[in-house]
Amino acid sequence: MTKNSEYILEIINNSNTHLTAEQIFLRLKKKNKTVVKATVYNNLSSLYQKGLIRKISVEGYPDRYDRTVRHEHLVCRKCGKLSDIVLEDLTDLLQKQVNISMHSYDLKINYICDECLKQENEDKNRALPPKLLSKKNPHYNEEQKG
Ligand SMILES: [Zn+2]
Ligand SMILES: [Zn+2]
Repeated sequence: MTKNSEYILEIINNSNTHLTAEQIFLRLKKKNKTVVKATVYNNLSSLYQKGLIRKISVEGYPDRYDRTVRHEHLVCRKCGKLSDIVLEDLTDLLQKQVNISMHSYDLKINYICDECLKQENEDKNRALPPKLLSKKNPHYNEEQKG
């Protein structure tokens, strides 16, 4: 393994978020000032092929890279945020249903994250005419006084 490859693996394994190639590049640059982006992409694809890292693809977002320690992902359908979730190992359950020798599986559970839910509710409230605003809203009383 090259030094760059080792660094990249270290960056991914020590990160508690899901880094994009761009973010990995910026971190790698702190260790190796002369590194170019193509090196990062090449190393990521070879690490991925060797099964040393995971790649998470979500439509509309750049690929993100992750440790291989078994865990699954929650994906927000609105903002693309990824969160880790540990579920029981489904390998045997899935293996029974397929006629091939399974290597691994990737499970993504789609949902709407708390922030996006909150945002959706705020947008809904804003769309209501003023008289329907809750009395808890300070603007309600002000408007009534006038
Ligand atoms: Zn979200
Ligand atoms: Zn993850």
